[in-house]
Amino acid sequence: MNKPLSIGLTGGIGSGKSLVADFFKLLGIPVYISDLEAKKLMQTNSLVRENLINAFGEVVYSDSGELNRSELAKIIFNNADALKKVNSIVHPQVRLHYKEWLSQHTGVSYVIQESAILFDTGLFKNFDKIITVTADKEIRLSRVVERDSCSRESVLERMSKQISEQDKIEKSDFVIYNNTELVIPQIIDIHNQLLEL
Ligand code: ATP
Repeated sequence: MNKPLSIGLTGGIGSGKSLVADFFKLLGIPVYISDLEAKKLMQTNSLVRENLINAFGEVVYSDSGELNRSELAKIIFNNADALKKVNSIVHPQVRLHYKEWLSQHTGVSYVIQESAILFDTGLFKNFDKIITVTADKEIRLSRVVERDSCSRESVLERMSKQISEQDKIEKSDFVIYNNTELVIPQIIDIHNQLLEL
């Protein structure tokens, strides 16, 4: 069986990555959602567990072994070093887990890894092609405020930490515009191009 192409799907906060990922799934494409898998690994991967406990103490897991998300959230809230530490523990395991997941997916032309931080981390170099989903800042802002019932300021704060839309667009092989454009035809067009590669 041929190895499938590995496609990165990224975009800034509220750009519509999850929505686009769902459409690719509908087209039969396996999609690896990095955030979701990272959360699972924090629960199930013994090395992640050990390293988190070494870094932050037993308090990050409950007596029954569940990840204590609220404790961890308290620890990383406004603490860039702690967040960096968590990422340095979790991200390498996500990379390994994705490689393993990829090796289990033969018989398809391509698979997708969705992650908000492909460009921020340099991970983009590992992919055969990159798709970026983008929308204007104000649209992304209002969509996230509505989705998460949070303040504009908190979204702006998260946006300020992400690399610019223009940077992402320039470094991408495909761009999906998600303002008022029709999204599904753009996805089908990219899907067809990827099938041809
Ligand atoms: P995050 O990085 O925060 O996880 P995301 O890039 O995965 O965000 P989504 O969750 O897919 O973004 O989209 C953000 C919100 O905007 C969701 O509530 C989604 O339903 C909505 N949304 C996305 N695209 C559109 C669209 N074209 N029209 C209307 N609503 C949309």
